[in-house]
Amino acid sequence: MHNAAFRALGLDAVYLAFDVLPEALGAAVAGARALGIRQLAVSLPHKEAVMAHLDEVEETARRIGAVNTLTRSPDGRLVGSNTDWIGAVRALEREVKLDGARAVVLGAGGAARAVVYGLLARGARVTVLNRTPERARALADALGAEGAGPLSALARTPHDVLVNATSLGLSGDASPVPAEALRPDSLVMDTVYEPERTRLLRDAAARGARTLGGKWMLVHQAAEQLRLWSGREAPLERMAEACERAGPAQPL
Ligand code: NAP
Repeated sequence: MHNAAFRALGLDAVYLAFDVLPEALGAAVAGARALGIRQLAVSLPHKEAVMAHLDEVEETARRIGAVNTLTRSPDGRLVGSNTDWIGAVRALEREVKLDGARAVVLGAGGAARAVVYGLLARGARVTVLNRTPERARALADALGAEGAGPLSALARTPHDVLVNATSLGLSGDASPVPAEALRPDSLVMDTVYEPERTRLLRDAAARGARTLGGKWMLVHQAAEQLRLWSGREAPLERMAEACERAGPAQPL
């Protein structure tokens, strides 16, 4: 996806995937500094731990509590930011107006925090539901969401937008909520992008709801990474095509 964008824009750059063990995270960041790498995308499970190794963490990323992008400033400082929240809202805004929308976010981990932050920033009214309801409450209180509760509360929570930000669906054909709790008049987005049609999205479509796969959040968050690093606008369609062709990144 990034390499397709580099080619389309004529940028002399290459994007590579590396598997990094948690105990090697500090060494990996130090190595990136020493090599003069311009930008790093940070994925699970490093998005929180990586903050300890940076020179600066942007305010938004600090509020979300997770960093998914490291950019080297001209003076060599490594700055952490979060583009997941922008990816989520830009993906949703392809389909709905968020200002004033009633949104439910499933999950209370790093992705959920980014999605809740983005929805609130765009003026949505947000309820957070999670397998462990105490974590949903803590997230809602920290970011200023209206409501919180267990996943079972979905059926009695009216909403226009539903976002799955749990990891359920990533491996195995499972959904965090029963099909009967899904509303035909809602937009359902899954942050899980592999597989593209998760059980949740298939259930939602069968109920008559509109659906959006995690691919567009992934593409839009990567587009923002490209903008942070190069100042260039991303070729979204080219990136989306490359994302579909390539499937999951293969670490070296
Ligand atoms: P995380 O911090 O580990 O959080 C996982 C969440 O899933 C928690 O809320 C957890 O609930 C819940 N969960 C896990 N297993 C569950 C189960 N069996 N039943 C119900 N809930 C369960 O992970 P994360 O970083 O937030 O990532 C979550 C998902 O977002 C991943 O699938 C990731 O691929 C996706 N994501 C997508 C994009 C994109 O660009 N499309 C970007 C970022 C992340 P508890 O609190 O009860 O443990």
